[in-house]
Amino acid sequence: MPDDTSALTKNTWRFRGNPEPKEEPRTMIRGALTFLMSNLNKSDNRPVIPMSITEPSAFECFKTTQVATQAVTDVVRSNKFNGYASPSVGILPARRAVAEHLSKDLPDKLSPDNVFLTLGCRQAMHCILHALGGSKSNILIPKPYFPYYDYFPELHNFEVRFFNLLPEKNWEIDIDSLRAAADENTVAMIITNPGNPCANVFTYRHLEKVAETAKTLGILVISDEVYAHIVFGESPFVPMGVFASITPVVTIGSISKRWLVPGWRMGWVVTHDPNGILKEHGIPQSMKRFLDISPNPPTIIQAALPDILANTKDDFFSKTLNIIKEDANSFYEGIKHVPGMTCPTKPEGSMSTMVKLDLSVFEDIEDDMNFCLKLAKEESVIILPGVSVGLSNWLRITFAIDPLFLEDGMKRLKDFCERHSKKM
Ligand SMILES: *Cc1c(COP(=O)(O)O)cnc(C)c1O
Repeated sequence: MPDDTSALTKNTWRFRGNPEPKEEPRTMIRGALTFLMSNLNKSDNRPVIPMSITEPSAFECFKTTQVATQAVTDVVRSNKFNGYASPSVGILPARRAVAEHLSKDLPDKLSPDNVFLTLGCRQAMHCILHALGGSKSNILIPKPYFPYYDYFPELHNFEVRFFNLLPEKNWEIDIDSLRAAADENTVAMIITNPGNPCANVFTYRHLEKVAETAKTLGILVISDEVYAHIVFGESPFVPMGVFASITPVVTIGSISKRWLVPGWRMGWVVTHDPNGILKEHGIPQSMKRFLDISPNPPTIIQAALPDILANTKDDFFSKTLNIIKEDANSFYEGIKHVPGMTCPTKPEGSMSTMVKLDLSVFEDIEDDMNFCLKLAKEESVIILPGVSVGLSNWLRITFAIDPLFLEDGMKRLKDFCERHSKKM
């Protein structure tokens, strides 16, 4: 028998941390942010301008509605919702409320059975990916993508393949590249509408084309609609569920962005399946099994959800939307005067957009990451390099911040770019 210390001296511990997902520290969003934050100049007394994360609730002007805080307070005070949520797919009144809320924009009414409540959109994505069961299959995602969508499918053993979004066509999907990426092992495609990171809003015609393409490919359309109704340009928001009679659709959403409460972790994944195809293929059944073994959204927030969805006043939405719209305008106008940058299309929705870097304008900028690093060091402005969303030598800039911070951030950005421009 080995004595007490033999395991240590022979170094025979049998456990080790799982290296998956392989986080490339500088290109993954969290890694990039940590890296940039750790390079801030501590003797710069100006406030840091966070044009990198879509978390407007950090600012005083982006507070949630009193209706939501009151609804949660009432539920907490009632002392009736301190137990586990049952059933695991979510309590019935909350699922019914989501079905009614979404049905307002749909031709076919949803039933509570179509709705599965999740810990925000992120768990909603895990729920549907789990249900699609990854082995040997692949999933198509847009480029540029919402950070996380490049590796969530990998966690579920899918291969990730890309199709392109076209900046010169208002970031519409390049349908040819979508077809080219698909093969007999493709099971689904993911779209984000309104778009993060491109701030675009897909038109009815384009979504219809996407639905028809998905049908011919025999794949599921997963539409991330976390920014539903956060639109302020020409195109209205059209939910993908509108096309469910053409092809089966799963949408995901949450109250994180529109109600400015990402920390409440209340989201949903919804099947739009008027022809019963998803059911026939066991998708909702598998989603339920996933939620049976997963943590569920807090019962308190589930119980407050019907009140929040039904009673939030339009003036709360329009107030928030007006600030974001003003931000988008001043950003788009301002960026025209910044050397080395082009924003191909005016933001029409969501909270972040893509800006192309022309490196030839600058004297000493190597690439997008180097740009963001120097900007953080010299100007205390945090911007996400395009590599972390799949497009190198672009930048992903969040404009939905306090307007005074945005003005300050744009000025620092301009000073920085002028200072680093080649001298004539
Ligand atoms: C913020 C965001 C999410 C995550 O939403 P949660 O409800 O906070 O999990 C998902 N998708 C996109 C496109 C987002 O911007």
